[in-house]
Amino acid sequence: MSLLVMKFGGTSVADLDRIRNAAEKVRREVMRGHEVIVIVSAMSGKTNELVGWVEATSHLYDAREYDAVVASGENVTAGLMALTLQQMDVPARSWQGWQVPIQTTSAHSSARFIDIPRANLDAKFAEGFRVAVVAGFQGVSAEGRITTLGRGGSDTTAVAFAAAFGAQRCDIYTDVDGVYTTDPRICAKARRLDTIAFEEMLELASLGAKVLQTRSVELAMRYKVRLRVLSSFEDTDDRSGTLVCDEEDIMESRAVSGVAYSRDEAKLTLVSVEDRPGIAAAIFGPLAGAGVNVDMIVQNISEKDYEGHTVAVTDMTFSCPVNQVARARKALEDAQASGVIAYDDLVVDTEVAKVSVVGIGMRSHAGVAAQMFSALAAENINIKVITTSEIKISVLIDRKYMELAVQALHDAFELDKAT
Ligand code: ADP
Ligand code: ASP
Ligand code: MG
Repeated sequence: MSLLVMKFGGTSVADLDRIRNAAEKVRREVMRGHEVIVIVSAMSGKTNELVGWVEATSHLYDAREYDAVVASGENVTAGLMALTLQQMDVPARSWQGWQVPIQTTSAHSSARFIDIPRANLDAKFAEGFRVAVVAGFQGVSAEGRITTLGRGGSDTTAVAFAAAFGAQRCDIYTDVDGVYTTDPRICAKARRLDTIAFEEMLELASLGAKVLQTRSVELAMRYKVRLRVLSSFEDTDDRSGTLVCDEEDIMESRAVSGVAYSRDEAKLTLVSVEDRPGIAAAIFGPLAGAGVNVDMIVQNISEKDYEGHTVAVTDMTFSCPVNQVARARKALEDAQASGVIAYDDLVVDTEVAKVSVVGIGMRSHAGVAAQMFSALAAENINIKVITTSEIKISVLIDRKYMELAVQALHDAFELDKAT
């Protein structure tokens, strides 16, 4: 019997009506002869509420208890989904992570899969169960503690099950009907793509497009999972939505295929740091130690007058998520106090956002950067930091211009028009 993985995100299981709607889609696949592994998220808003409760108890909370609390949202929807399916005469049962058991590392709140043994689920399928409803986002560590996979992690649970069970396809049901050229919620002209290459989806996800968790795309690419994104609110068939696939299977060929943004960024500049071998290591070592996810880095070399002679100095600018600024500041101040680094000033800008254009076509098209910068210039948007890689260009800009920038770039690269 062929097996499908169907994942339903938070808005798709937000209340009992929506769970019924999702269960109906599962029932239809069962009627067509499939066995189904259903992965569910918590009801929308639930995980945020749970995180809020944890943070309200303490600032430096025990990460193991954080996971014990925030994993619970998925336990509720898994049980409700199984009950709803049973009401439809579909033999189903729920599985929490530890029952499978979904074995992960013990990196609490950002755990990674180690193994998903098939035996328990296979035994139930053999008994005649047609559906296994698995709580997404969670697992269990070697120490026997509940772990979670990072926000958006149910996508990754879905892909990991598809890989472990050799599923025919992994369908990600969500509140949009596929992957768009950019977030349809901030750009009305965004166009749904029929297909997108793994590499592009990976960049878009890691640059902020939250429609798929980055790690889920990585896993799908590595294990050759047929990964599809589609709407849980519309009638869907085998051709609906967006298929994430190999580059060779893509029809469209253009320089830029999508625009992504990340709203909550911060820019920090260490002013007048001594310019010597080892200085970057001395700065970014302590930041890494403090768990700061540094993204863009720019170094400007200059000179300053010091006690009558000229010394080489550098301004070191980097970006990180805005909620890590306090940690970054403390790490740098501690490093200054203990003599590891010396700087004149630390300038922090917490009102920035990152906007990126992505496309595998950039490998062969010249002038994409120039076109991007002139589109932003035409809107009078100042660029603070630029980084590029083979298939993406990112800029840091004032957050208040973020939506305007996304729309301007979408227009400039004519992403509303199919090729
Ligand atoms: P779920 O709860 O189903 O996991 P998410 O909220 O995590 O759903 O992801 C879906 C959302 O991703 C959409 O509502 C949309 O606003 C956003 N999004 C961002 N970029 C894109 C994109 N390029 N294509 C489609 N959706 C996108
Ligand atoms: N409920 C989790 C979150 O909100 C996981 C998920 O929905 O993918 O991040
Ligand atoms: Mg999600």
